[in-house]
Amino acid sequence: MINGLSGTMMDYQLTLTPIMKRAMQLYPNKEIRTKFGDTMHKVTYAESYRRCGQLAQALKKLGIEDGDRVGTFAWNTYRHHELYFGVPCMGAVVHTLNLRLPADQLIFIINHAEDKVIFVDDTLIKLLEPLAPQLKTVKHYIVMTHGELPETSLPNVHSYEELLAAESGDYGWPEIDENAAAAMCYTSGTTGHPKGVLYSHRAIYLHTMMVSLTDAMGLAEPDILMPVVPMFHAMAWGLVYAGTMVGCTLIYPGPHMQGADLAGLIQDEKITVTAGVPTLWLGLLQVLEAGDYNISSLQRMPVGGSAAPRSMIKAYKEKFGVDILHAWGMTEMTPVGTLSAIKSHMADWSDEAKLDLRAKQGITPPGVEMRIMDVNGEELPWDGEAMGELQVRGPAVTADYYKDERSADSFTEDGWFRTGDVSSIDSEGYMQIVDRTKDLVKSGGEWISTVELENAIMGHEDVMEAAVIAIPHPKWQERPLACVVVSDGADKAQVKAGIYDLLSKEFAKWQLPDDIEFIAEVPKTSVGKFDKKVLRKQYEGYQIAETE
Ligand code: AMP
Repeated sequence: MINGLSGTMMDYQLTLTPIMKRAMQLYPNKEIRTKFGDTMHKVTYAESYRRCGQLAQALKKLGIEDGDRVGTFAWNTYRHHELYFGVPCMGAVVHTLNLRLPADQLIFIINHAEDKVIFVDDTLIKLLEPLAPQLKTVKHYIVMTHGELPETSLPNVHSYEELLAAESGDYGWPEIDENAAAAMCYTSGTTGHPKGVLYSHRAIYLHTMMVSLTDAMGLAEPDILMPVVPMFHAMAWGLVYAGTMVGCTLIYPGPHMQGADLAGLIQDEKITVTAGVPTLWLGLLQVLEAGDYNISSLQRMPVGGSAAPRSMIKAYKEKFGVDILHAWGMTEMTPVGTLSAIKSHMADWSDEAKLDLRAKQGITPPGVEMRIMDVNGEELPWDGEAMGELQVRGPAVTADYYKDERSADSFTEDGWFRTGDVSSIDSEGYMQIVDRTKDLVKSGGEWISTVELENAIMGHEDVMEAAVIAIPHPKWQERPLACVVVSDGADKAQVKAGIYDLLSKEFAKWQLPDDIEFIAEVPKTSVGKFDKKVLRKQYEGYQIAETE
């Protein structure tokens, strides 16, 4: 009964199983392809569905039960795809492990999540072997390889393909409660241990619907989709589930994620949509500008994880006709929060005005609500000027961290998630990240956005990368220092003068960096973001001359 009236709706659970089944029923012959070295491995959705069934049967035999955590230590491949579906649809929890994290963090994460088995790519065994003696709950290691099991010190090892080959694949997928856990992922915390986020089937189902919408990522059956964002980070931004739901041809790059690999894949596989962090696309841009690739199939790229520089968005549009959909999100949000779709009434705006808009992190898809708050907990207006802490809520936003006492600090009393990002929102609803709260430069009572400075500096033609950090200052508390990577052979003195010229047009004098340091490379985190923690450490004790 709805509101006491006689009509009712079906009690239909929003789980991943119908998403997996739909692709098998409607697009049985469409392919999931994976690059391994020089070969392109192909499996159809129908075959993939059967293999998911075989996987579930094999896991049952290994003693995996509802709610058990199943770890994955793998690149983006068709087997990882099978784990993304087979594990949750049998009632267990797929736990993607970030293979770029340091050993102590991985050991903490695996023990904290109490993973029962770990699936590992053959090429990654050597990374996992030294951790195994300290993993308290792992009963089996399953190696994903095409050939014989490699020599390994891992205990209780099985071959993925042999386990599957022993099963029929005719698996009776169970009815699952939509609030049951489907997946989990840890965020690489800046302080303390990483924090775990547990995703329910319902959250992922709704997230899959909302990111596929035309005004979000606009995914559709004809798309040839290449998720480059690793499947071990933030659920690959939901692309595995969304791409399967709508029936895209899926291309997984395996471990091949350098600029030249990506250019070759886009050209040869005629990819229409691909997605990942800005550093990848900056690398690809150099390759495309230097080489002779045809990437005319490529229509759009959701880019996020860190700020996409305006100059990069412009270069892709003007030189290659590719729309970068600047996106913002967090592991805690399953993970998409905003995307920079242009509204129809903006169609006749000038190219520059549209670029300004595309450089913002964008508007929320249905299913995400956001607000900005001042330090006193008062809501700030959407005027494009006021800056405050960004808070969000929605059906795909986590309500706590997994078995973690720190949860309370991240949620407001009225149930919003505190993102730790500082942002503004304009009157059209376009959100712009100003900075992480902890990265902002607090200078003489004013804030300086390191993200805005970096974007502007990266607009200089000889600058490859730029990261701005706060340096303690005796008078102003903190001042900005820019750490810049220039292209080979550039004259640093000229570049420095050029950067200050460029910045002076956009920023007030007090916002300009006090100095520019030229460095060989900006240190990166495990997921390819600028690692300012490391930079700050490198410049600890750096003396900025006292200014007026
Ligand atoms: P993660 O959970 O690892 O995906 O990290 C989430 C954080 O990455 C956010 O809180 C932001 O600080 C940052 N981030 C994600 N997307 C963007 C973006 N488009 N621009 C700036 N920062 C971003």
